[in-house]
Amino acid sequence: MRCPFCAHEESKVTDSRTVTETHAIRRRRECLKCLRRFTTFETIDLTLQVLKKNGVYQDFAQEKLVKGLSACCRHTKVSHEQVMTLAYKITSNLMERQVREVSSREIGELIMEHLQLLDPIAYIRFACVYRRFKCVDELMVALENIPS
Ligand SMILES: [Zn+2]
Repeated sequence: MRCPFCAHEESKVTDSRTVTETHAIRRRRECLKCLRRFTTFETIDLTLQVLKKNGVYQDFAQEKLVKGLSACCRHTKVSHEQVMTLAYKITSNLMERQVREVSSREIGELIMEHLQLLDPIAYIRFACVYRRFKCVDELMVALENIPS
């Protein structure tokens, strides 16, 4: 990253944090030559492949995540804004792993993790669809794990 003050090519990163709303990473850098500090915003490469259960790869799409989450959260206390925030959170979490592919199962587990904390009804709805509970026992275990 070129220093905006002296145009030196090398700098070190002193601080990194993700700006979730824009999928950008904000980095504080320090020029190795003039030691001046500057901030850069780097956009995360959103090319992430999702490996589905049937072995087919699909581009990761946040809109799909929003759609799915909205369906689970319909008629619950979860607001649209909370759904959007959750989608951003999950997307950022996936991007931070810096991998090229992720299985749909991993995404499912991640969604469950977040929904469980957010709203029990939305969580159960998602879990029912996602896990297609093989037996009532499984459903009961999932129910018991919901924090009251
Ligand atoms: Zn410099």
